[in-house]
Amino acid sequence: MADHANPFESLQAQIDDASAYLDVGDDVLERLKHPERVLETNLSIERDDGSLDVFRAYRSQFNGDRGPYKGGIRYHPGVNRAEVKALSGWMVYKCAVVDIPYGGGKGGIAVDPREYSASELERLTRAFAVELRPFIGENQDIPAPDVNTGQREMNWLKDTYETLENTTAPGVVTGKAIDSGGSAGRVAATGRSVMLAAREAFDWLDRDLADATVAIQGYGNVGSQAARLIDDLGGDIVAVSDSSGGIYDPSGLAVGGATDHKRETGSLAGYANTESLTNDDLLTLDVDLLIPAALENAITESLAPDVAADVIVEGANGPITPAADDILTEQGVYVVPDILANAGGVTVSYFEWVQNRQRFSWTEDRVNDELERVITEAFDGLVETYEATDTPNLRTAAYVVAIQRVVSAFQQGGSWP
Ligand code: GLU
Repeated sequence: MADHANPFESLQAQIDDASAYLDVGDDVLERLKHPERVLETNLSIERDDGSLDVFRAYRSQFNGDRGPYKGGIRYHPGVNRAEVKALSGWMVYKCAVVDIPYGGGKGGIAVDPREYSASELERLTRAFAVELRPFIGENQDIPAPDVNTGQREMNWLKDTYETLENTTAPGVVTGKAIDSGGSAGRVAATGRSVMLAAREAFDWLDRDLADATVAIQGYGNVGSQAARLIDDLGGDIVAVSDSSGGIYDPSGLAVGGATDHKRETGSLAGYANTESLTNDDLLTLDVDLLIPAALENAITESLAPDVAADVIVEGANGPITPAADDILTEQGVYVVPDILANAGGVTVSYFEWVQNRQRFSWTEDRVNDELERVITEAFDGLVETYEATDTPNLRTAAYVVAIQRVVSAFQQGGSWP
């Protein structure tokens, strides 16, 4: 059922859709539809009350033809093997479409971090780092933040790895705090690429993001930073939501105030002078730009016919199911796909890793300028392929670009043994 789309099947369908526009044999394509390996492990930690708790954790290394495996680690009760495999594959094509020298990986722990203390989460993260140690490394596989993880968890991962390896290796993870080897501009980077992708898309459509009405589903790091940066450009953020629901003001929300309200109260609900709305209401608002920035499968086959936005820029990974994607294409909705739109996070992770390897820090301006160059060049390349082929939408064109790059690296390597 599309409403419960398996994200791994979604990824494979997206690759199949692109295959019709590629001169790649089925044997090679088959390699690109499955991870190279998946670590599945049990993590046991002692709770603060002395009891034992056990968690399922995963790391999927999908493809390393273009460089070390790269991708985040997610803490969420919904984490499962199929989801991690899909997310690791999306990382491969994300890194390829923006042309940074990485393969793709992803990890996660099935845990609701809100139910655990900071010291319990530290023990859990260090337990995961111990399991990950043989598989990760500055040149092997480089974790980063994802849903419900951030600088704190990355600092713990780095510290555990370096202690066990008796070395310093800041490039073993990215998304660290600045004093632990993080990069200026990393926290805002994913939201910044969402803003840049939206700006480029509006420009391409001869429209101006500064005149647009915008709705954003999800107000974590990606959604809140995208809201701030689009608001700075003059766009009207009329609705935002989190898992408990959304707030709406047709004349435009005060974004800074909404962010403060969420920080102070834990949710957006109840922010002054706004109407409340559900996540489905938000996703079907008649706005110029819709940004799903929460989790997979936000826009399903049953919801897609009601989507009224002109342009969708995907802040989350996999927020639109393949069946919903077909409906949106038929409706003439332009979707800027996740693998380009949210690639700012991994792009600045790459800059962080380069700085770590060189032991030389960049200014925030330099980070932001280089990010803008990467995203605008990738967008131009995507549009060029879209216009030069019969691909039905920007997503399929993005996979055509990305798969060609991965296949080229694979074929140049030749086969061995
Ligand atoms: N978790 C982010 C993503 O899905 C960032 C990954 C990274 O920086 O390696 O793209």
